[in-house]
Amino acid sequence: MFLSVFGSIFGTRNSRMLKKYERRVRSINALESHYQSLSQEELQSAFHALKQKVQNQEVSLDSVLNDSFAITREASRRIYNKRHHDVQLIGGMVLHDGKIAEMKTGEGKTLVATLAVALNAMVGKSVHVVTVNDYLAQRDAEDLRELYEFLGYSIGYITGSTSEEERLQVYASDIVYGTNNEFGFDYLRDNMKYSLDQKVQRHHYFAIVDEVDSILIDEARTPLIISGPANRKLENYQVANEVAKKLENEKHFTIDEKNRVILLSEEGIQRAEELFGVDNLYNIENASLAHHLDQALKANYLFIKDKDYVLQNNEVVIVDEFTGRLSEGRRFSEGLHQAIEAKENVAIKEESQTLADITFQNYFRLYDKLAGMTGTAQTEAGEFLQIYNLDVVSIPTNIPVQRKDLNDLIYKSEREKFHAVIEKIKELHAKGQPVLVGTASIEKSETLHELLKKERIPHTVLNAKQHTKEAEIIKDAGNKGAVTIATNMAGRGVDIKLTDEIKELGGLYIIGTERHESRRIDNQLRGRSGRQGDPGVSQFYLSLEDNLLRIFGSDKIKGIMEKLGLKDGEHIESSLVTRSVENAQKKVESLHFESRKHLLEYDDVANEQRKAVYRLRNQLLDSEFDISSKIAEDQEVVVSSFLAQQDITPEIHSQNYDLQKLQAHFQESFGAEIEIKDLENLDYQELHTKILETLNENYNAKMSVLEPDQRHEIERIIYLQVLDTTWREHLYMMDNLKTGIGLRGYNQKDPLVEYKKESYNLFLELRNSIKIETIKTLHLIKLQAHQEEANKQALQNLEEEFAPREISERPFGGKIARNEVCPCGSGKKYKQCHGKSGPKKGLLARKTQ
Ligand code: ADP
Ligand code: MG
Repeated sequence: MFLSVFGSIFGTRNSRMLKKYERRVRSINALESHYQSLSQEELQSAFHALKQKVQNQEVSLDSVLNDSFAITREASRRIYNKRHHDVQLIGGMVLHDGKIAEMKTGEGKTLVATLAVALNAMVGKSVHVVTVNDYLAQRDAEDLRELYEFLGYSIGYITGSTSEEERLQVYASDIVYGTNNEFGFDYLRDNMKYSLDQKVQRHHYFAIVDEVDSILIDEARTPLIISGPANRKLENYQVANEVAKKLENEKHFTIDEKNRVILLSEEGIQRAEELFGVDNLYNIENASLAHHLDQALKANYLFIKDKDYVLQNNEVVIVDEFTGRLSEGRRFSEGLHQAIEAKENVAIKEESQTLADITFQNYFRLYDKLAGMTGTAQTEAGEFLQIYNLDVVSIPTNIPVQRKDLNDLIYKSEREKFHAVIEKIKELHAKGQPVLVGTASIEKSETLHELLKKERIPHTVLNAKQHTKEAEIIKDAGNKGAVTIATNMAGRGVDIKLTDEIKELGGLYIIGTERHESRRIDNQLRGRSGRQGDPGVSQFYLSLEDNLLRIFGSDKIKGIMEKLGLKDGEHIESSLVTRSVENAQKKVESLHFESRKHLLEYDDVANEQRKAVYRLRNQLLDSEFDISSKIAEDQEVVVSSFLAQQDITPEIHSQNYDLQKLQAHFQESFGAEIEIKDLENLDYQELHTKILETLNENYNAKMSVLEPDQRHEIERIIYLQVLDTTWREHLYMMDNLKTGIGLRGYNQKDPLVEYKKESYNLFLELRNSIKIETIKTLHLIKLQAHQEEANKQALQNLEEEFAPREISERPFGGKIARNEVCPCGSGKKYKQCHGKSGPKKGLLARKTQ
């Protein structure tokens, strides 16, 4: 009831928006004959003139939209013989308005984007177009290069194999194509660099995200993380794995499949304590054991090989639950990946520590304007609006859709279902009609593969294991007699073209062998057929044994099936059942939405902190920034905090000050002498002033051996170093806090409120530590008087050491050989100084207390 009302409100709102856009389409069409009559040069200079006016700020982008669209359309017609359809103009306007254009597969969204890109790039800032994989980034950029260059723009694309120098160049182009991962990681990497001119990204001005639902919704639960090794104990994983294997389901623990958690029973806790040999598993000192056990249980009883992950060259590789692809390089977080490695008895890779991270949500929120396009956004319209402030506009197809979406067929058992699927494939194959079969997992693809082999039906299996060939295979899925088995979303964005003969045969036939948890993903599968008015059919075959029906399906369906008294091999087909299945999906969708929202609420806290830290970082990189004043300011704060650590505060009477201790700690912290007799009989304020003066004198004396430029450079580098290391340490504590906070939820406190409170405290501490550590380090580092060359060299070394190379592996961004002199200036070898405690507590990352 509610939904239908909502639906119709949406419907009228949508058609109202469309009306407005349609009016504008007529104005653009009216310009067509004029631009058609121009020569190539005239057309180009007309566009150039618009650009000039925009850059001189004589006119707004909006006011040149009609002409810009008309010229882009005409250029495309001349170059590719592809004239943007009217509905594509609407799509372009929707993108320009910072909304999501929902346009079905095959409607030509790649070409739609050119309209908004060409218009918005006039400002002179680069427009980013975001694709789901490298293949599409390259394909689209190369396909469109001629058009963009015709309009006077430079264009480039970024893939995983683009070098750092190339990136600098590409980002300087007017138009940049690349994947969400590349854009996101470049942002994180930029914020680990030591000079502004190494940063590759210029602006976050306008991003158009293709397949926007895949990027902003499906991938939203996995943040981008740059990490390095954390040096924690690896045996614990094995021990926990042994313990987990000895515990019994139902007796020692229960599995909640719906929420993907495992709960230990009282008996289970006792048994685990015995096996670990500890008194109380939930004592603070055993917290890490409890955590390991938790993950080991999940690894053993929730995560299934060949469904959630595969083993490839003795490594555990994640299977993306939405795309069915292998997510190589990605690892489950919080020790789960290691737990699975222990379960599978392969080498356990060191736990890694976060060096920098961001969610896609927060990355894309950096842009002044964001727009998206996809074939399937409507089911998540609420989420797009609530989380990203993105409206969804559904745009009608250029030619009406002819594909027939048949009702679901439901069987009692999976065996019967697959049998029916095979029969159908046989029938289609016999007459030559191509069929694309979607499966929910690699495992199910393999099952089908075996069955088809038995029937001697030639077919291609496209599963996560072969994703490099994905595009080539999908392209051919519409050939005569083709039988293609693919996990549910494989080959998004790849065009399946049909010949007239195939159209005669009824077009591409889609068979879904399971409903996905999200209706959107099912719609993606259907949408592979029936492009641009092509004929086609789609149908889902389900069974009561399917996960979705088993876990979330209402008893209603089972009731109906029982009442009908189905015999073996029989199925039911009714719109009532199809609706029940959809209701189950809606339930799961909202569960997932809640979990994404939850993640985001946590990430928002970190996001504010990240922004503040990156802001400070950018200031430090700016050559105009007056770092000496900043250091002088910090020095005051540092003195107060230093005194407080020695129990010297305004509240304590000066007779009780322990000046000996003060002197010793002063020497230790700042490497400087102070005479006790100079401190006697001073009250707090006087003492504070005296200490500060002494520090300033020492500091200035020490720095006086340097040229102003050199001094500036040393201060800058040390500050950045401390900032980065302290920030990483902070991220690590935030991770722990997040894991730990869940447990506190049991004390009837809202975990999110607690998390916010505590992370704020951590952040205040962070800001203090940065100041303290910087000042201390600057005081402790040794400069050699009157040896400019040596100092210059030392500085250069320092910079080289810290230049972020291979940062995804290395917490300090730079390599320091163990036998080299430690860059902190102690004169000791690195391995005996800051290199001693391993990467985590590395250079300059000393604790302040
Ligand atoms: P989508 O991303 O919407 O699924 P694509 O951008 O992959 O669609 O385009 C599908 C096919 O339609 C491509 O071969 C493309 O070149 C073609 N195409 C798009 N727009 C037009 C047009 N206006 N005229 C002719 N062909 C077009
Ligand atoms: Mg596309």
